[in-house]
Amino acid sequence: MLRLPVLRHAAPTSLDEAIARLSEDGAMLAAGGTDLVPNLKRRQYPEAKTIVSLRRVTGLDGVSVDDDGTLRIGAMTTVARLADDGAVPEVLREAAGAVASPQLRNRGTVGGNLCVDTRCHWLNVPETWREAAEPCLKAGGEMCWVAPAKKVCWAVSSSDLAPAMVALDASVRLAGPDGERTTPVAELYRDDGMDHLAKAPNEILVEVIVPPLGERRAGYRKLRRRGSIDFPILGVAAVLEIDGDVCTDARLVLGAVASAPVRVTAAEDLLTGRALDANVIQEAAELAGKAVRPMSNTDLTSRYRKKMVPVFVRRLLRDLVDA
Ligand SMILES: Cc1cc2nc3c(=O)[nH]c(=O)nc-3n(C[C@H](O)[C@H](O)[C@H](O)COP(=O)(O)OP(=O)(O)OC[C@H]3O[C@@H](n4cnc5c(N)ncnc54)[C@H](O)[C@@H]3O)c2cc1C
Repeated sequence: MLRLPVLRHAAPTSLDEAIARLSEDGAMLAAGGTDLVPNLKRRQYPEAKTIVSLRRVTGLDGVSVDDDGTLRIGAMTTVARLADDGAVPEVLREAAGAVASPQLRNRGTVGGNLCVDTRCHWLNVPETWREAAEPCLKAGGEMCWVAPAKKVCWAVSSSDLAPAMVALDASVRLAGPDGERTTPVAELYRDDGMDHLAKAPNEILVEVIVPPLGERRAGYRKLRRRGSIDFPILGVAAVLEIDGDVCTDARLVLGAVASAPVRVTAAEDLLTGRALDANVIQEAAELAGKAVRPMSNTDLTSRYRKKMVPVFVRRLLRDLVDA
């Protein structure tokens, strides 16, 4: 059985106190802890000294809708709540309902999901296994076992909500020692497995802001080995605005194929201004397949995952056109 290392536990009751505690050396933020705790047990964060829990900070959970239809989701809202809330667009309920398992969705939060660490099967193993193969870059070693030619970490973005939020053009409100700022979810991520979040370690995600979907059609499809529990090995999110037969705007985002969600702008451009018949959908799906190169760092082979990209994009676009 893997045990947690010895750590201090801080349970601040205000956001300011949480930010102050998080600014201390070796502090790590915990929301539901569903990803953080297993990673700590596998000794993935040797620098960790204190866990700063957000659970006693009030005002960070709940879903509300502004008069103009803008959706506001508190960072501590559970994934289960998001999946069940009728005020939430179906695409987000689909993505939330596909996260992990019921137990993990009951505990895991939206903020934690968007900030979940990147994954790789050379990294997410117990310490003794990592040492047996020499630690990879992200574990403090000198090389990446997935692609040794370059000194780059390819650990994969594994959030189900992230691609859906990027497709919806959602933003996040972050609070830190210098105050608050709001940034598009798309800009929260870097395509860098070691440093995948474009935020300071002591900035806390407070709220997700989702603009109204209006008449646009949106969906999320996920590939994983089993029907439950497993992380995505491909996620596809799309939002389409369709006027008559013609697509007037498209956003297409792939998850779990790189260290950050990938927007497929070439396919978006192709779809926009066209009637979405089978040929156009097929062309867009093929462009999506060409846009990404999944690596051998998660479940199933990278070749199979790449082949599945156009298949999943085509199915989702067809479903949205037929909706
Ligand atoms: C077996 C298993 C299967 C899983 N399957 C899936 C899956 O299919 N899809 C999926 O998306 N996830 C999956 N997960 C990962 C995880 O359970 C979910 O992503 C969950 O929503 C994470 O939320 P949490 O509150 O538990 O995050 P935590 O574990 O508490 O935190 C995760 C990371 O986010 C940071 N963080 C948390 N909250 C904030 C905040 N408000 N501001 C800034 N940083 C923050 C933490 O510091 C930590 O680095 C799985 C996990 C396990 C163990």
